Amino acid sequence: MFSHLRQFFSHDIGIDLGTANTLVYVRGKGVVINEPSVVAVNTKTGQVVAVGKKAKEMLGRTPQHITAIRPLVDGVISNFEVAEEMLAYLINKAQAGSPRMLGPRVVVGVPSGITNVEIRAVRDAAKNAGAREVHVVEEPMAAAIGCRLPIHEPRGVMVIDIGGGTTDIAIIALSGVVRAQNVRIAGEHFNTALISFVRDEFKILIGEKTAEELKHAICTLEENPEPVEATLRGRDLVTGLPREVVLTDRDVREALLPQIDTLFEAIGEILEITPPEILSDVMQEGVYVTGGGSLIPGMTALMERMMRVPVYMAEDPLTSVVRGTGIILEDFERFREVVLDHDDDTVIPRS
Ligand code: ADP
Ligand code: MG
Repeated sequence: MFSHLRQFFSHDIGIDLGTANTLVYVRGKGVVINEPSVVAVNTKTGQVVAVGKKAKEMLGRTPQHITAIRPLVDGVISNFEVAEEMLAYLINKAQAGSPRMLGPRVVVGVPSGITNVEIRAVRDAAKNAGAREVHVVEEPMAAAIGCRLPIHEPRGVMVIDIGGGTTDIAIIALSGVVRAQNVRIAGEHFNTALISFVRDEFKILIGEKTAEELKHAICTLEENPEPVEATLRGRDLVTGLPREVVLTDRDVREALLPQIDTLFEAIGEILEITPPEILSDVMQEGVYVTGGGSLIPGMTALMERMMRVPVYMAEDPLTSVVRGTGIILEDFERFREVVLDHDDDTVIPRS
């Protein structure tokens, strides 16, 4: 009863603090913010000039006194101050226009394997931004909830979240993370691999933005009967002048294959240390893949062949985590056990 009344007094907010994208859910409204995780800071005054899309546009082309900073790198908070500023900005923006009497209850999705010090930093940042209560949930757990997987049950479920900086692999049962691993192979590493491949094979230099566009345009892990091509412009490493080259989907696969192999090795390692009963659940129920990387065509099919279990792509994989935080907010008591919210929180030791 009180939980329905709460909405009149406070805006409850769910946040997915991703390496690549940050999303915010407001209870009763849905996802209200979806922006790249970039903050532009004026180095003279220390003030935040822009957050999200606007700040991302400034990356690489900022005037000297403005730097565009990504507060999370490889799934860990690399710049606390900026991460705090970003959280404060998001919490304020989410409440803007309709202030409530009470500060919000905030649920923040954090990378699995985050340290207690980092958890405290996130909590303090949200508190400083006016949150009345702050709860932290590990991202693979939030993703599983966002995918409406039966996380409360004794049967094990497996979630693989291929994000920007890391891939989180987790096995969940009885509202807890049973096994998890965090590998530094994800969307941004795919871009880096493309940049190196084009440099080595074609002797031209392309930027991060071009690599990202290339990935969206022609990346597929499946053999195509008809090759798909893309024309790239970059700087010739020998002459220093701009030059065009044509790449095919096969080139892109070749560039990404070592990364994909390592990713599959990590998945195999988790399966090896999964208790046999839970492993048999996973083999029956299948594996759920989410995060931006799951959108690469052929990813789930390749996983299915490698792992020999059914693999399902989450619906709307870029929003599973934030929708998970939303589901937790909408029915908080039911999900109480999944949030980490005491000062002596301990995150499950990583294997
Ligand atoms: P994070 O949770 O770390 O912020 P996301 O789950 O938002 O990451 O995924 C972002 C990553 O997904 C980026 O590296 C982006 O390049 C990649 N991505 C998004 N859409 C696609 C797509 N259609 N094909 C391939 N990669 C994609
Ligand atoms: Mg994510």
